[in-house]
This record gives sequence, structure tokens and C-alpha cells, in this order.
Amino acid sequence: SSLVSRRFTIADFEIGRPLGKGKFGNVYLARLKENHFIVALKVLFKSQIEKEGLEHQLRREIEIQARLQHPNILRLYNYFHDARRVYLILEYAPRGELYKELQKNHTFDEQRTATIMEELADALTYCHDKKVIHRDIKPENLLLGLRGEVKIADFGWSVHTPSLRRNTMCGTLDYLPPEMVEGRTYDEKVDLWCIGVLCYELLVGKPPFESTSYNETYRRIVKVDVRFPQTMPSGAQDLISRLLRYKPQERLPLAQILEHPWVQAHSRRVLPPCAQMTS
Ligand code: ATP
Ligand code: MG
Repeated sequence: SSLVSRRFTIADFEIGRPLGKGKFGNVYLARLKENHFIVALKVLFKSQIEKEGLEHQLRREIEIQARLQHPNILRLYNYFHDARRVYLILEYAPRGELYKELQKNHTFDEQRTATIMEELADALTYCHDKKVIHRDIKPENLLLGLRGEVKIADFGWSVHTPSLRRNTMCGTLDYLPPEMVEGRTYDEKVDLWCIGVLCYELLVGKPPFESTSYNETYRRIVKVDVRFPQTMPSGAQDLISRLLRYKPQERLPLAQILEHPWVQAHSRRVLPPCAQMTS
């Protein structure tokens, strides 16, 4: 029987090393006893989810992520729960967080960045076709597959969370588009802005609107005050300039990111072989 359709309990798994810590629990490397299939098991404590009133949101978001099947989106195979915990059976991303790799290398080259742009444009085309907006693309939410391909993660939490409240309270504005920082309505074009910010950060080592204060970052975002270093390749500058537009409808559509000459010239995307036993 398949990983996707059968029912599981924690007794079906051997638990390995912790992969990371999240707000509501931990993520572990795990292996299915019956066939040694490797997964990441994310364990969430019901008490904490209930305390924050997030049960409905969690359920809705599990349903959304479980429907998404794309080589550049971290797969949610299945889930189960016991008296105290909810368990998400996730695809394991063996090369960890893009964020850590960026910290280590400071910047990525044109090839690496263009490849990530192609992967994200393809994954977001798939999401937008299904009326799913990510809204929270940034290095912290991107994991890496075996061949270094990007896997969009943290879908669950971000899709239906208006990121504005979370970001204004405790986080950074760096990746938020003008319509979100100004509290206006927004649509899937927020994701175009976010990948423009990401492209800049990967090549330069810091996001374009980074400032010493929240208010200054806010001011720079709504003015679209972006400055390109001398070292920025002109093709990348052209792409980023077409994505960082105040008006959402003026941002370069995803299909044209895939066609963009700089992406075409530098991307070395490779598709992973199809996953097994998941259909
Ligand atoms: P937050 O909401 O604060 O970002 P979270 O509850 O969403 O936290 P995750 O970001 O999903 O938690 O997971 C915490 C960390 O565990 C990640 O940053 C990553 O390092 C690691 N991790 C999570 N899922 C996987 C996976 N499928 N493969 C490999 N590592 C993972
Ligand atoms: Mg996270």
C-alpha cells in the first residue's frame, strides 16, 4: 500500500537525528520500517497549536500542501496524529536549508541563481494554476534536494497566514511587496516581487531594501528604492528591475521569467527522477 493513501502511526517509523526545530515542534529524519523509505517527520504539539488557535489553519494548510506535487515543492505525503501530537510525513531534503548555504558562501554565482529562478518560476506557475499563493518565498523557506535543486517548504504555514501581522510584529519586512506592507489587497503577483527580492539577495548577499530600521525599510519598499552594485550582471539587473515594480500588474509574468535571456543563458536546471511509491 502507498505512502499517500494508507494510515500510519508513529510505530511505523524508526526515528533518526533531529533535522531542525520549528515553532510548534521538531523535525526528524525518519524511515518507514517496512521498506526503509526515508522521510522527514515534522512533529507538532496539539497543545501549542490549540493555545494559538491554529487548528483550522493547520488542517486547511495540510490539505493544500498535500495536493501539490512538483519537483521544486517539498512534498507532504501524508499525516497522522495521536493524543498529543500531529505528525507530518514530508519529503526529506538532504542538502538542508538554502539560507545556511547562502550564509556560508555569502553570494551565489549567476548559474546557481538563474537555476533557482527557473525552478521557482516553474513551481510558482504550478501553484498559481491551482490558485495557491505562497506569499513567503525567502531563503529560510527554501530547502535543497539531492542535486541542489530548490524545494519550496513552509507552504503550509504561509499560504493562508496574512504574513503582514507576523512580519510587522516580530520579523523583517525585507521580502514583503508594497501592497502587503501598505495593508492593501493582494494577489498571486506578490510572489513575483518576492522572487525578485530573492534574486537580488542571492547575487548581492543582502536583500535590496535592507535598512537599519523598520521604518526605513518600509519607506524604501514603497518607493521601490533599489540600488544595484556595479558588480551586478546587466541581465540579472534587467530581470530584477522587471519584478520589483510597485504596481503588481506591471511585474514580469512567470512565463516570461522562464523565457528571460539571462535565465536562459545561465540556468542549468536538472529535473530529479520521479519519486517512487508515492502515487
Ligand atoms: P518556522 O515556522 O519557525 O519556520 P517551522 O515550524 O515551519 O518553523 P520548519 O521550518 O518546517 O519548522 O522546520 C524547521 C527546520 O527543520 C527547518 O528550518 C530545516 O532546517 C529542517 N527541516 C524541516 N523540514 C525538513 C525536510 N523536509 N528536510 C530536511 N530538513 C528539514
Ligand atoms: Mg520554517
